[in-house]
Amino acid sequence: MARDSRYDILFEPVRIGPVTAPNRFYQVPHCSGMGFALPQTLNAMRGIKAEGGWGVVCTEYCSIDPSSDDFGHHYCTLWDDDDISVQAAMVEAVHRHGSLAGVELWHGGYATNNGLTRAVPAAPMSMPVWHGFTQTRAMDKADIREFRRLHRLSALRAREAGFDLVYVYAAHGYLPAQFLSPVQNQRGDEYGGSFENRARLIRELLEETHEAVGDRCGVVLRFAVDNLDDDTGITCDGEGRDLVEYVAELPDLWDVNIANFPADARTARFAEEGAQEDYIAFVKQVTTKPVVAVGRYTSPDRMVSVINKGLMDLIGAARPSIADPFLPAKIRDGRLEDIRECIGCNICILSNGLGVPLRCTQNPTMGEEWRRGWHPETITRASSEEKVLVVGAGPAGLEAALAAGRRGYQVALAEATTELGGRVTREATLTGLSTWSRVRDWRLGQIAKLANVDIYRSSRLNADQVLEFGFGHVCIATGSTWRHDGTGRSSFTPFEGHELDGILTPDDVMEGTPIDGPVLVYDDDHFYMGGVIAETLAGRGLDVVVATSAGIVSPLCAHTLDQGRIEARLIEIGIVTWTSRLLRGFDGGQAVLAHASGSEDVTIPCRNIVVVTSRQPADALWKEMMARQAEHAGAGLKSVRRIGDCEAPQTIAAAVHAGHLYARTLDSVDHVKRDRVLVAPGGDSS
Ligand code: ADP
Ligand code: SF4
Repeated sequence: MARDSRYDILFEPVRIGPVTAPNRFYQVPHCSGMGFALPQTLNAMRGIKAEGGWGVVCTEYCSIDPSSDDFGHHYCTLWDDDDISVQAAMVEAVHRHGSLAGVELWHGGYATNNGLTRAVPAAPMSMPVWHGFTQTRAMDKADIREFRRLHRLSALRAREAGFDLVYVYAAHGYLPAQFLSPVQNQRGDEYGGSFENRARLIRELLEETHEAVGDRCGVVLRFAVDNLDDDTGITCDGEGRDLVEYVAELPDLWDVNIANFPADARTARFAEEGAQEDYIAFVKQVTTKPVVAVGRYTSPDRMVSVINKGLMDLIGAARPSIADPFLPAKIRDGRLEDIRECIGCNICILSNGLGVPLRCTQNPTMGEEWRRGWHPETITRASSEEKVLVVGAGPAGLEAALAAGRRGYQVALAEATTELGGRVTREATLTGLSTWSRVRDWRLGQIAKLANVDIYRSSRLNADQVLEFGFGHVCIATGSTWRHDGTGRSSFTPFEGHELDGILTPDDVMEGTPIDGPVLVYDDDHFYMGGVIAETLAGRGLDVVVATSAGIVSPLCAHTLDQGRIEARLIEIGIVTWTSRLLRGFDGGQAVLAHASGSEDVTIPCRNIVVVTSRQPADALWKEMMARQAEHAGAGLKSVRRIGDCEAPQTIAAAVHAGHLYARTLDSVDHVKRDRVLVAPGGDSS
């Protein structure tokens, strides 16, 4: 299909210093959990973005020197000349599709532990590093000179690797941003004190990077114009603006955002598409240089509007490019309904925080481009004319049916209820999670295009019916239910009174079971569900108390960057929280909470308790089928597999991945390549 002319503006080239971006789609630097550890995995992923039409594709944070390492997380490196060929391979993967490649040169300052190199972390002052046991050394002037020299050397290596854009990185609270901050920099020399002194390092880095590589590379300043969560003294109507005015014409491109990471990459629960616009709006009024900014943009109309309104020249994206590497190509080709929109869940960010390769709730091929050879848009044709029965239309079943259908199999998808989508349909009813229905809607939209996939609603299948189908392959994706008896992380045995009326689960809340207050939400799950159930019930006007076995509310949400916001939200709506408490009993009118370390019990008056502890795989059909294996061959069955939450309750991302993996490997083995350094016998690869 032809592109709608309304979107032509998105495909205009944009000049960035000595180079030209072929269009306005700009994948800003984003972490991948791959970095130096998994370079082939990484380079293939970046290459796919370029293939999908992103006119600029950048690295993640790329350390300039061993004096700034973030080991445990997988950053890139340009420490020495041996790194050049690794980065050149990324550049080549991007250039192959006509896109520009950018590199984000990085020094962490207070952020770095240097756990690998054991170099003493250095920053404007001697203060504790963000995460860790150590303090920084206060950089003296020789240290600053050395840092500038290393930054320049790294820029030269970037140029040699073939990068088109080289970053000075003064965002997300890293070293140049720390020097600018009047709070984090209280030095008494010419790099501290007045605004000009604190901005000196950023100015020098811009000038020196220009001088080193500016003949061939565009110099980009990534700058956080406002620090929403942290009091660093940088605001978009104060010194954030002053900095843009001060060095307005020095960068070839302004990549602007707000910091820190939890502010920049807020989940959909706390920020809508375009949530940074008010903060960055002034930048284009202050500089003649092009501007790129992010805002989890997935709507092409919104993209056109921010360009026409003069907010930015390039549409920056990290998460939308992860959820759909082919987003630009789909707009270009007039296939808007095929765009797989990011849901703003931050599972991608969680991966990096854990030091594991990137994964995505919406895009099961993310991170699998190299090791499994998965392409987000193409899939191998089936090698046979077998029929596939998928039982259960949650995220696992929907993805299995879609991917198997795309492969050309005849697919029947049977769902017990009238609603499709399983847990995403249910969870999308909770406060702040409405975007999660995109997981269902995109798959249903794609399945609707396939004549070979039939959906049967209100079809709860038992083993007799599955065998009667007479299909060659059966995929059981029957999901899970929340446990009712309180067993979970902290207790493998039920609590006293768990069988009484008044004990409910998240499933009951999502299904609209009538609930009386006061209600206690007991969270032993520690991820988002406890907090979101409490918020939802409070929104229904109930008097809610939260108790959790953890030391803080929703601790695992620290990995999705919204733990602090969840805690603040619960406080704001007046919910009292008991931490480090274990649910011991319920008598119909009150709950007994023991302290995790044994101090006095407390009793909480409540009519209902919602226990958010763990889930029970809904694997009855699977067990029935396994008990009747002798009948399989007679019924024409060649394989029966269980996937998703009915195998092991996990994230929605894991369920989608399981569905995709199922379809890809229906007629083949799961071949997974290993990305690693190989050492010849007796060899030394140093
Ligand atoms: P997952 O995350 O693994 O996809 P969900 O719980 O989201 O799991 O979805 C499972 C789906 O399977 C639900 O919509 C549920 O109604 C459906 N289901 C469960 N048992 C059966 C069955 N025997 N026949 C058909 N559908 C079933
Ligand atoms: Fe978006 Fe979630 Fe995918 Fe991240 S994991 S890109 S937030 S859908």
